[in-house]
Amino acid sequence: LLQKDYKKANGNDMMAMKIKDIGGEFKLIDRLSDLVHTQNASVVVGIGDDAAVLETAPEATTYLLATTDMLVENQHFTSRWSGPEHVGIKAVESNASDIAAMGGTPSWMLVSLALPETTDVEWVEVLYKGMATACRRHGIILAGGDTTRSNTLVISVTLLGSVPKAHLCLRRDACPGDLIMVTGTLGASAAALTMLESGHAPSDYLLTKHRAPACRLDISDRIAPLANAMIDISDGLASDLGHICKQSRVGANIHSGTIPLHPDVRQAGSLVGKDPLVFALGGGEDYELLFTITPANRDKLIKLGIDGYVIGEITVDPSFISLVDHDGHRRPLSGGFDHFR
Ligand code: ADP
Ligand code: MG
Repeated sequence: LLQKDYKKANGNDMMAMKIKDIGGEFKLIDRLSDLVHTQNASVVVGIGDDAAVLETAPEATTYLLATTDMLVENQHFTSRWSGPEHVGIKAVESNASDIAAMGGTPSWMLVSLALPETTDVEWVEVLYKGMATACRRHGIILAGGDTTRSNTLVISVTLLGSVPKAHLCLRRDACPGDLIMVTGTLGASAAALTMLESGHAPSDYLLTKHRAPACRLDISDRIAPLANAMIDISDGLASDLGHICKQSRVGANIHSGTIPLHPDVRQAGSLVGKDPLVFALGGGEDYELLFTITPANRDKLIKLGIDGYVIGEITVDPSFISLVDHDGHRRPLSGGFDHFR
């Protein structure tokens, strides 16, 4: 109704272009950011990374980090196979993952709820129990929020944290020659979802990875001082590595045989008739960390007891990402999730 009224007042032409016509989510954000002030001396990194990096005082040894993420019912979760406790855990973990990707530690959380008036109180209480579980795990304090009525259930979480200035990891700092690493196996969340949607029963492992994933704050503070670029895998390896390459003006070779897949993900692939790599490349919501690191620093990481998986290397070729198969055959890496495409 609002859009119709706006059209009447402004003529139809202004409203003719749709989000999907301009190239999706990221193009829309680019256009919107041109309309407001986004640059300031205190904004070390604004729009474009996993969290905003803010200078609170020049003499401080840390930066403030800020990130926000929304979960919309039937878009990000469905009550068909996620209970409120799972949704609460996922809401916190997905935000904490963005703080981990900057090399930081989360501290304070704000939660906004848009709820249909028919929502059970118990559902919301169990949602908060899930959030409390994840907050306890990471030492996060709930500092406030907002509650309103809506036709669709929406949970919006904002997380604030900090990072020692020297440990900040951005998407833009990958260098040619860096190894490309991930902190864990990929594709489990997408594999579980595909199985659920096609009427198969996923294993407990896959189900947990999908409903209540855990971010990698357990190891991110040891990776951050050694890594060059870092991002968390929320949209799929292809899309998220694409962000690193684009912002660092580099390319990448990914060796398909080295992408770590859990046996249950392989099994899911054969059950639904899909190459399991598709889950890893395009599925998203893994919340593992993807980072680039010099070979020398990788050795230091191993000495810290963190091995991870090397899946490729950064090249000088700007923005060209190849997936190299066992036989040396190359194809462009594609896939990844965009809400409007
Ligand atoms: P992530 O997947 O790591 O959460 P997103 O893809 O959601 O990151 O966002 C990428 C960047 O775009 C972030 O810096 C985020 O703050 C910014 N962003 C997303 N949506 C908006 C918006 N509506 N207005 C301003 N900035 C936005
Ligand atoms: Mg992210």
